[in-house]
Amino acid sequence: MSKIPDRARAVIIGGGVIGCSVAYHLTKLGWKDVVLLERKQLTSGTTWHAAGLIAQLRASSNMTRLAKYTQELYGELEAETGISTGFRRCGSITVALTEERREEIFRQASMARAFGVEVERITPSEVKARYPHLNVDDVTAGVYLDKDGQGDPANIALAMAKGARQMGAKILERVAVTGLQKQGRRVTGVEWASGGETGVIQADCIVNCAGMWGHQVGRMAGTNVPLQACEHFYIVTEPIADLTQMPVLRVPDECAYYKEDAGKILLGAFEPVSKPWGMDGIPADFEFDQLPEDFDHFEPILEAAVNRMPMLATAGIHTFFNGPESFTPDDAYHLGLAPEMDNVWVAAGFNSIGIQSAGGAGMALAAWMDSGEKPFDLGDVDISRMQPFQGNRHYLFERSRETLGLLYADHFPYRQKATARGIRRTPFHEHLKAQGAVFGEVAGWERANWFAEPDQDHAYRYSWKRQNWFENSAREHKAVRENIGLYDMTSFGKLRVEGRDAEGLLNHVCGGDMSVPVGKIVYTQFLNARGGIEADVTVTRLSETAYLVVTPAATRLADQTWLRRHLGERSVVITDVTNAEAVLAVMGPNARQLLQAVSPDDFSNAANPFGTAQTIEIGMALARVHRVTYVGELGWEVYIPTDMAAHVFEVLHQAGQSLGAKLCGMHMMDSCRIEKGFRHFGHDITCEDHVLEAGLGFAVKTAKPDFIGRDAVLRKKDAGLQNRLLQFRLTDPGPLLYHNEPVIRDGQVVGYLSSGNYGHTLGGAIGLGYVPCAGETAAEVLASAYEIEVAGTRVTAQASLRPMYDPKSERVKV
Ligand SMILES: Cc1cc2nc3c(=O)[nH]c(=O)nc-3n(C[C@H](O)[C@H](O)[C@H](O)COP(=O)(O)OP(=O)(O)OC[C@H]3O[C@@H](n4cnc5c(N)ncnc54)[C@H](O)[C@@H]3O)c2cc1C
Repeated sequence: MSKIPDRARAVIIGGGVIGCSVAYHLTKLGWKDVVLLERKQLTSGTTWHAAGLIAQLRASSNMTRLAKYTQELYGELEAETGISTGFRRCGSITVALTEERREEIFRQASMARAFGVEVERITPSEVKARYPHLNVDDVTAGVYLDKDGQGDPANIALAMAKGARQMGAKILERVAVTGLQKQGRRVTGVEWASGGETGVIQADCIVNCAGMWGHQVGRMAGTNVPLQACEHFYIVTEPIADLTQMPVLRVPDECAYYKEDAGKILLGAFEPVSKPWGMDGIPADFEFDQLPEDFDHFEPILEAAVNRMPMLATAGIHTFFNGPESFTPDDAYHLGLAPEMDNVWVAAGFNSIGIQSAGGAGMALAAWMDSGEKPFDLGDVDISRMQPFQGNRHYLFERSRETLGLLYADHFPYRQKATARGIRRTPFHEHLKAQGAVFGEVAGWERANWFAEPDQDHAYRYSWKRQNWFENSAREHKAVRENIGLYDMTSFGKLRVEGRDAEGLLNHVCGGDMSVPVGKIVYTQFLNARGGIEADVTVTRLSETAYLVVTPAATRLADQTWLRRHLGERSVVITDVTNAEAVLAVMGPNARQLLQAVSPDDFSNAANPFGTAQTIEIGMALARVHRVTYVGELGWEVYIPTDMAAHVFEVLHQAGQSLGAKLCGMHMMDSCRIEKGFRHFGHDITCEDHVLEAGLGFAVKTAKPDFIGRDAVLRKKDAGLQNRLLQFRLTDPGPLLYHNEPVIRDGQVVGYLSSGNYGHTLGGAIGLGYVPCAGETAAEVLASAYEIEVAGTRVTAQASLRPMYDPKSERVKV
């Protein structure tokens, strides 16, 4: 078939709204030889039947930035392409029916202001004035976003396809990708079939935009793209007399959204328990298909809706729609370069926001593909955050029953997923459980977050105020500050980097100096060429030729991939040894006493100074202790071969009891680390935060030649800082901080908190956040008056550049 080229710079697989956007944005950047292959017709997968809500506010600043970009793009597409996108800015209202939800939407409104999104808090009577059909009897509050809109999903996709074609892309329908040819870590050929013909396109790279087929296409490419199709429902009423244009309305407490469309109401559902679909594969002939009605499933939503909008009782249902959409394990879409391969890109798994995300996601991915670097932090959606096990289809089935509904559930801080739990457990799990541990989950790992008292509910009671574990965690915090805390850090990612060029590789990738004696531990970052932080790790030299890189649980794969991609010709083997060792942290002023009680080895400053590791005897086992801390106290992380972990736990726990040591959880750790101003990767430090502005210049050794980011660090030293990461403490001990609260400097919003928690020793909520400071000295930055906005109320804050807790680290080095 002559129209199908035999080579391309990029082959995009899938012609839904996402594939069309990627094609549009690549060609806009001047890419030639872009080919999009669609197995049936454009939009015939999920895109054609979307409801078309297009909102701007997301849960983080960069996701909001992408959604805002989408809005702006859709506003212009019609003029650019001549295709009517139906896009209009009708505004949106979200209403709360409970006090907790009121706090949530007011916190979101504060966050929106910090992200530059216009939002109004409105009272129930103002809600009624803007949406007269609504029963507001039990409405506690509302927010109104006047730039939110709605559009025609299929035409939006077709407009981007047309734009891409006009710029040179080949967009081919009825061409199915049937296989991918690979060489090493690259896809080289895309096998296609069309109307009885077959062929191969030689491709420099491919982009998996296959929507709910994304998992399967991912497997063809040797990559893991965890997503699961679920049934997704809405109804459309018969025309309702005199119904004029209305804002989009969301009533999350009733799992419902409403859209006025051509004089009818579309009512959509995000029910708490959803229905995964397509477990045996998606039918080969699927094209503009619908799934069977399930009225029983939809009925509770409709019942609440009739009470909320009484006119629905008589409106009559014109359409009952059920269509599949793909959902991911964490409700965030997948974007970026697949970690397993070097030329396979992904944009799939859009969790019911593919239309409103397509513009921004396509723009960001195209920019990343073009430059080879993420244009800004995309950690929320970067495909490398997914763990290999998350591709397991049984897991995806279980998890996706919950994720659809979570989109409208209360987004309480610390909320844990209820489904698909218990998959990765540490050797201490049962011991901790027996002692009252209440677990949270990160990257599939079960981690003790806090310990319940015997007479207390062993479960979370969520709230925006102090939750039921607040005092438990305060006691754990006190134990670490005043005596000894023991906590399980097995979930650390552990990478063994070994070979004759290991030192050279790590010196190239890390800002710190890796030419250190055996036993030395270096706290360091992987920098990118802009001086941004790609990873925040500790590196321990185990031997002349072997290092252990310890990473956060969630970033192990990303960090391993970063190392591998910078390997070049060096002779180094990188192995994930996460599961080989369990880790128990022993922290607090009396930590030395406890270790000394169970080991004949020497833990003195002379034998084991801060920043060194040694192998020890402990109980009847062997372990390696690393003298480091993330809580700002004297302490050791004990690395124990997994087979001896339970024994070592019993030994330490028993000896600890006689010294008053306390088992602690992750909430304690976060509260202690924020008091000490320790940065948290993914929040306080990301690929777009310059290491000097993050206040981590001490960890970068520019005397060392030729490492990634060195030039950017030197340039920043000359040019001066544009931002500084400050620590804040609310002077009123009442309000709580989570993250994203606006930072107000001398009355003006200047930024937002990158992380927040409660500082039990400092006696108030603590936050970290960047403040612009071009041309200012540190003293000038600190001379200002600061406030943090919490759910619409400004609270006075003390600001500091040095950690407010133990600024000279005197407690760590005793
Ligand atoms: C009921 C419902 C309401 C929704 N409402 C909204 C909303 O209001 N706002 C919003 O933002 N989002 C909404 N969504 C979500 C939105 O529709 C999706 O997120 C979006 O359409 C996903 O686009 P996509 O391009 O990833 O997938 P798709 O549109 O499914 O496109 C993927 C394409 O890949 C093709 N393909 C697959 N395998 C191959 C292969 N091997 N070779 C070639 N082609 C292949 C398929 O044929 C398909 O056309 C809704 C979804 C549903 C179901």
